[in-house]
Amino acid sequence: MRPTGALHLGHYHGALKNWVRLQDEHDCFYFVADWHALTTHYEERDVIEKNVYDMVIDWIAAGLDPEKSTIFIQSRLPEHAELFTLLAMGTPLGWLERVPTYKDQMDKLKDRDLATYGFLGYPLLQAADILIYKATYVPVGEDQSSHVELTREVARRFNHLYGRMGGFEAKVAAALSRLPKDDQRYYEKQRKAFGETGLADAWGKGEALVRRAAAAIEGWTADDTELLLGHLRGSGKSILVEPQALHTEVLRLPGLDGTKMSKSYGNAVLMRDEPAEVEKKIRGMTTDPARVRRTDPGDPAKCPVWQFHKVYSDEATQAWVDTGCRSAGIGCLDCKQPVIEAIVKEQKPWRDTAAALTADPKKVHWIVEMGTERARTVARQTMRDVRSAMGLDY
Ligand code: SF4
Repeated sequence: MRPTGALHLGHYHGALKNWVRLQDEHDCFYFVADWHALTTHYEERDVIEKNVYDMVIDWIAAGLDPEKSTIFIQSRLPEHAELFTLLAMGTPLGWLERVPTYKDQMDKLKDRDLATYGFLGYPLLQAADILIYKATYVPVGEDQSSHVELTREVARRFNHLYGRMGGFEAKVAAALSRLPKDDQRYYEKQRKAFGETGLADAWGKGEALVRRAAAAIEGWTADDTELLLGHLRGSGKSILVEPQALHTEVLRLPGLDGTKMSKSYGNAVLMRDEPAEVEKKIRGMTTDPARVRRTDPGDPAKCPVWQFHKVYSDEATQAWVDTGCRSAGIGCLDCKQPVIEAIVKEQKPWRDTAAALTADPKKVHWIVEMGTERARTVARQTMRDVRSAMGLDY
């Protein structure tokens, strides 16, 4: 997530809530993408540091647990930049120019200088951010699917170019020699059959044999497994892993004026807004324009407050809104009151946790430090594999 300062309810319901759930199901890596912030705001050096730590505080307040998730800052790991540079060498320019968000952002953010190499290259930096952790899944919205697809293409190309380098055949022969003679012949038979017919049966038998060897042979490494599976597949070794986009259903909250919620549009309710501020903002929210007077009936479908009820209210309250709005039985301020109460209640634990962390900046720095070191262990191993595959390990 790019460090844009204090987070709002749109961030929470659109992404963070999902992140908190995922940390119980997966080994998750969440990082502050401060270099990505520079791709559009490279001249704003003063705000970034404060934004970085404010955002980490909001993440933890929302329920991210540093014991379960690896939380870190992108710029603390130069390995991301190294992988970005190495991938850039072989990435066709057209792949980046074709990313749909590139032209879209150029059109939308007219007040920004986006005619830079950094901005064109940011999807490739994202690819490096993902590939360096050999990620299986990337939790993204539909609008980011093209970025995950680019990441997959970049990984595929890298594996194709370098998977056979660095003495691949000799390494395969060394791994094979550790199998019993009968297993070596069986493996070769399945590899030949898979190469000629592409039948899943041959692949399955060959893979099962390699997995059995991995469990049974002392000193067998994950690298040996990758080598033999790559050889079986006929593609060489997979050094970088192609990730999958993980789309989950998220709730979209509009801003106070019905457009996208964004701090820069001035239409956001922040995760840490005080109750009085929440009340003021929600009471001032745009409603169905047909309800000019208290006695005019309205239509919830034309009102952004209704989107908030869909997130925050139970069925009985939603039915009360629907009937009351259409019959002018309730006023808009009556309608907004349950939303105000629900938001204030939701925010209470966030505000408490955030206040404690803000008073103890050393603790926040320590959490980031621990996460950065955990991430570094994985990133360094990947870079060793990448350098070796590219012949840069001299
Ligand atoms: S009654 Fe509620 S749903 Fe209807 S226009 Fe007013 S705020 Fe919107």
